[in-house]
This record gives sequence, C-alpha cells and structure tokens, in this order.
Amino acid sequence: MYADRIKYLPPYLFAAIDQAKQEARARGVDVIDLSVGDPDLPTPPHIVEALSRAACIPENHQYPSYEGKLSFRKAVADWYNETFRVELNPKTEVLALIGSKEGIAHAPMAFINPGDVALVPDPAYPVYRTAVTFAGGTPYIMPLLRENGFLPDLDAIDKDTARKAKLIFLNYPNNPTAASADRSFFEELVDFARDNEIIVMHDNPYSEVYFDGKRSMSIFEVDGAKDVAVEFHSLSKTYNMTGWRAGAVVGNADVVAGIGKIKSNIDSGNFGAVQDAGIVALKSPQSVIDEMRKVYQHRINILYDCLIKLGFELQKPRATLYLWSFVGGDSVAFCKRLLEETGIVATPGVGFGQYGEGYIRFSITQPTERIEAAVERLEKFRP
Ligand code: PLP
Repeated sequence: MYADRIKYLPPYLFAAIDQAKQEARARGVDVIDLSVGDPDLPTPPHIVEALSRAACIPENHQYPSYEGKLSFRKAVADWYNETFRVELNPKTEVLALIGSKEGIAHAPMAFINPGDVALVPDPAYPVYRTAVTFAGGTPYIMPLLRENGFLPDLDAIDKDTARKAKLIFLNYPNNPTAASADRSFFEELVDFARDNEIIVMHDNPYSEVYFDGKRSMSIFEVDGAKDVAVEFHSLSKTYNMTGWRAGAVVGNADVVAGIGKIKSNIDSGNFGAVQDAGIVALKSPQSVIDEMRKVYQHRINILYDCLIKLGFELQKPRATLYLWSFVGGDSVAFCKRLLEETGIVATPGVGFGQYGEGYIRFSITQPTERIEAAVERLEKFRP
C-alpha cells in the first residue's frame, strides 16, 4: 500500500522509549520527561494579545500570500540586522515558513534530482535526512564526533563526493549535541561550499538560546556567505512559540526563490494573524529573551553539575536546550533503565543517527522544580 519513501524511512527509535514512558505512567510513576525540546515557558503575553487583535482583522481570514506578508518579511530582515548586523532584502531574501521544519522538509525538492548527493550530519535533527530521501536524493553522512567538537570534518569528505554534492545541511548551535560553531568554522564552510558549488542550508533555531552572555552567530556574519547559503530561523524557541508554526528562510535570493516555488505548489502560506503577532515578537524589546536565558542557564547549571558528579562525560553547552552526555554502549537500553529506576525520560542518542549511539540527550524544557526533582532522583542513580 505504501510508497517506498515511507517503507524505507529509518526505524522510529524513539518509539520504544515512548512506549516505556506510557507504561510507566500507567503504573502510576511520576514521570519527569526530559526528552522533548518544547519550551514549557509560555509565549510572552504581548505576543498572545497581538494574535487576538490580529484574529479580528477580516483580511487575515482570507488566503495569506505565499511568500508571507511583506511586513512580516521586513520584520525578519530588521531583526537580523539588529541581532547579527546582517542586511537582508525582505522582498527577495526572506520567505515566511510554517515553522522552520516545514521549510527544511520542502527545500531539497527544489534542488535535488533523483540520485543527487546531499551532505547531512549524524547525529542530527532527523528531518534533514528524510527530506533529502523524500526528494529522491542520496544522503552522504558526515559524522559529528566528540574529538572534533561535534563539527563535521569537511576535509574528510572525499573530493568526488564533495564535487557531486548539491547541498549541505548544518545546524549550530546544534541539536542534539549542544555544540556551537565559531566564526572560523563558518568561514571554512563557506569556502568549501564555494569551491564545490554546494548550497549551504544552515538551520539556526537556537541562536538566541545562549548562555554566559556568549551570543551565537548567523552564517551571514561571514563574508560571501550569501553567495552560497540560506539560513532557517524560527520563532519557536526564541519566543516559546512552537505551537504557532512561524519561521523564515533567509539569504541567497535564488535559493529562497527555489524553496518558494516548491511551497507555492504545496501550501498557501501562514495564517496572517500569526504573522502579525510574529511581527510584534520580532519588533518588541528583546528583554523577554534575557529572562528566558536566565531561567535556562540556571536549569543547565544544576543538571550539568549533577551529571558531572554522576560521572557522565559531557561538555557544558554554550547554547541550546540540551545536555548531550556520553554514557557508552546501548543508548536505548540505558534510557529504559534510567526510566525504570528514576522515572526520568531522556532521549537515546541513536535516535538521531548511528553516530549518536553511546549518548543520551537531556532537555531542560520542564519547570525548574521538576529539573530539581530530577536532580534529586539522579543523585541516587548508579549509571
Ligand atoms: N531544527 C532543529 C535543529 C530543531 O531542533 C527543531 C525543533 O526542535 C526545528 C528545526 C524545528 O523547529 P520549528 O518549530 O521552527 O519547526
């Protein structure tokens, strides 16, 4: 009944943990779920109020424009300028998305012919790989290894593959490894892409979730990046708006136009009221994000200290909502035992790809008291 693209999807490795979680809940266990990166903090009230005002505007009840309202695209361009000192033309270099996942999933269809190669990291947000496969392409896996700071080794990609590749997906600050990339890596990446005529698709939803005052970069802070790259951004994690489905892809005008062509044949844009509220989020004082960072930083600190005490091997993240811990061996079995003995759910690293095996991911998107309760339980756990 099903097409090959569904039949050949990689096995859903989170399913075993989901089932164990449900069974534990059914047994009456007070489960602390640190497996999902979905902010528990509410969307700031001024954004919610903007949505309710915008929902009353009759224009917003009709089909939205495919590429997003110009006012929304201008707000994204202005935000990029304020945040990263990067200039974008809102008419040609910004396209609204129904959440960045939607854009990531559709983008390869604009550039990949059957059999074309795309470079994808492993471990990674699984959508890069499936999007390439759905478009008929062949993913070439770039391992993200601890000894390389979870950055891909671009020199290790054989010359033929690099020359053949049409696009490369990357994501820093990174989910799931919580690694950050610095300017020199982005410069190397842009040179590599230019030399090999590869489109860079940089996925940057965590740029604002950073700690210790060390901000994260946009790829466009590197000279020449716009010749080769687009960047996916999202309101989801910056303003606790995962349910709203609001994002954008920005950068190289030809690449943005290609993604726009695919999208105009698939969806009819994002609800105008969500875009109007998104404009308010992007244009209001960004102090709400400072508050959010303080909360996350505190949670990261307490969970990190506890994991180190337990003997887990991990780097303290500079950004993202995650702690990526090396536990060795079978990550699914480890997560099952963790759940059985503590009631805490973490994500097995192998769910993000074969190079994630041996690691588990903790997310900090539960109320601080729940993270504190998790720490108490972990203190009695023997890894
Ligand atoms: N990219 C990465 C790396 C993510 O972790 C996520 C969500 O968890 C997304 C993209 C999707 O975000 P959005 O809510 O904008 O679709």
